[in-house]
Amino acid sequence: MRRLRNVKIVATLGPASNDYDTIRALFEAGADVFRLNMSHGDHEEIKVRHGIIRKIENDLGRPIAILADLQGPKLRVGVFANGEEDLTVGQKFRLDLDKAEGDSTRVCLPHKEIFAALEPGSSLLVNDGKIRLKVIECGKDFANCEVIVGGTISNRKGVNVPDVVLPLAALSEKDRKDLDFVCDLGVDWLALSFVQRPEDVEEARELAYGRAAILSKIEKPSAVTNFDAILKVSDGIMVARGDLGVELPVQNVPPIQKRLVRKCRAAAKPVIVATQMLESMIESPVPTRAEVSDVAAAIYEGADAVMLSAESAAGSFPVEAVKTMDAVAIEVESDPTYREVMEASRDGKKETVADAIVSAAREIAETTNIKAICCFSQSGKTASLVARERPRVPILAMTHVVGTARRLVLTWGLHCVIARPVDRFKGAVIASTRAAMAEGFANKEDQIVITAGVPFNIPGTTNILRVAPCDERLIYSGDPE
Ligand code: ATP
Ligand code: MG
Ligand code: MG
Repeated sequence: MRRLRNVKIVATLGPASNDYDTIRALFEAGADVFRLNMSHGDHEEIKVRHGIIRKIENDLGRPIAILADLQGPKLRVGVFANGEEDLTVGQKFRLDLDKAEGDSTRVCLPHKEIFAALEPGSSLLVNDGKIRLKVIECGKDFANCEVIVGGTISNRKGVNVPDVVLPLAALSEKDRKDLDFVCDLGVDWLALSFVQRPEDVEEARELAYGRAAILSKIEKPSAVTNFDAILKVSDGIMVARGDLGVELPVQNVPPIQKRLVRKCRAAAKPVIVATQMLESMIESPVPTRAEVSDVAAAIYEGADAVMLSAESAAGSFPVEAVKTMDAVAIEVESDPTYREVMEASRDGKKETVADAIVSAAREIAETTNIKAICCFSQSGKTASLVARERPRVPILAMTHVVGTARRLVLTWGLHCVIARPVDRFKGAVIASTRAAMAEGFANKEDQIVITAGVPFNIPGTTNILRVAPCDERLIYSGDPE
């Protein structure tokens, strides 16, 4: 199964996408990566969804990436007896430490440190800022508020207190337990919420000890300020616009998004643009024009992936939302302007042998009639470098490491193939030509470009580039090795 676009689609799973058939339909519609949000659902549910994804992967023979999103130090309300309540402007609403289910007059906010920090006049923002409450009076275990902007509040919605600094650790006790649980289960990416400093990322990396790649969610002003240092220690980035647009004025988000996407591309690390991309599709089978433009803009910027949150997790049209993203991506990527932008924004710096080789691979592939670039790697580094070039021809990321193939699924343009281990370059050439033909990228009369690092057991070396015919007889007859 071959995608007809380069940008990847991340779909969050939830009550609207819980069973084999729906998750498989999401994959077939175009979802490449599934996000399991640890803020919602218990370990048993997460385990079931994880099992379903791996079964689909096995049934369809294509690697699928799983991203587990750790809640982080996010404040959330408790649950409501009715699941949700409508708050109207001007009404009073109480937040307290009482664990009883909420109703239209109150709900639990199980964080005592927040009450200690609140003052009359403080603003509380609920559900990515959609609902606004103003504190009228407060004590050590309650806050009586007035509803300034109303809306529906439901179970475990997030709460932001933008004008108050809260002393919270990067990883809570729950995060540590969740991290261990999902790493043992086997996830490819761990997303860290509310990263503020590079040390937060390093702490998670230590706890994960190689079981998953680490993706930092940029949703705090301090993460924007410390971005370069955070990027350096992260394997990937998410521009988490929900909380970012609450913690900072919303108009600051688009320029930050553009800047972060560029920096990630220059660093050859995947970047996801997330939140409210097709928000109206939670309830409607068609998106708004503005949403389509937003998805398109992220793709024109060169983002590796675009993401669905509630649209696929809790909406009425999860499959339609994925299809919409897929259709927008195909259209944008066939626009000559898109190619111009990709080429103009390519960072021409070549500091290493690997940089020069992947750049040459792209030039060769684009100036001649070559059907694909195949890169053989263990760690995935070479494939990431080829993707950074944003070439016009398809890229096959070949590896025998299943975890690498799955992880690379998040990266722009990579069609990941799990191959048998090879010990000589000729083996890599043959495996590449066979895969390119089997996966529908090339025919027998075509040629492909292959890059690899030799010797094969040393990760991070890229030192060979070869143009090879797909016809195996020609490989055997013409090769001196
Ligand atoms: P985050 O800050 O991590 O994005 P979120 O609460 O915004 O957290 P999303 O995963 O973005 O969560 O999904 C948006 C909404 O979809 C949630 O607020 C929730 O109402 C619903 N949702 C998502 N996943 C689940 C789930 N597994 N169970 C129940 N509801 C879910
Ligand atoms: Mg968030
Ligand atoms: Mg969200």
